Amino acid sequence: MITLTRIDTPRAWIGCLACYNAGRLTGEWYDADTADLVTPADLHGGETEHEELWVMDHEGFLGAISGECSPDYAAEVADALAGLRDDEAEAFAVWLSELGADIDRLHWVDQFRDEYRGFHQSEAHYAQEWAEETSTDEDKERMKRWPFNEIDWDRAAEELFSGGFHTERVSGGIHVFSSR
Ligand SMILES: [Zn+2]
Repeated sequence: MITLTRIDTPRAWIGCLACYNAGRLTGEWYDADTADLVTPADLHGGETEHEELWVMDHEGFLGAISGECSPDYAAEVADALAGLRDDEAEAFAVWLSELGADIDRLHWVDQFRDEYRGFHQSEAHYAQEWAEETSTDEDKERMKRWPFNEIDWDRAAEELFSGGFHTERVSGGIHVFSSR
């Protein structure tokens, strides 16, 4: 049995923007789930007039965050990832970066679980599975008489995906999401 394990806890390199703009790098790596708790004083070793912190680098987010972001955002995403099963985390990261922009943070996980239709080898495979799951008894009878491999699943998939589904290609296959 293959067990998917997330080895890395997401981490964020939090830096001071004022220092950065003055040509200095003042910052530190932190566990991302507590990124929102880091203060300017933490980074400067004491009181400072510098106020704004920013995540300038990060690791372990599985692609959920691309580029820079606020420490609050990094913490929210790390929290969401921590609350997911290992087999959901990668798909969630894809969903958040591609489809989650308009969704309120409080509803990220629910919305993702609502829309996620699983990982599949190809559009054609998904179309076949979908047909089997949604077909009526009558359809099934008809399909029995109709050798399955004579159905053009690529064509069926094209029709299916022109409607209510959204796919994101990753290595080895696709994540399928239903459209809103
Ligand atoms: Zn500073």
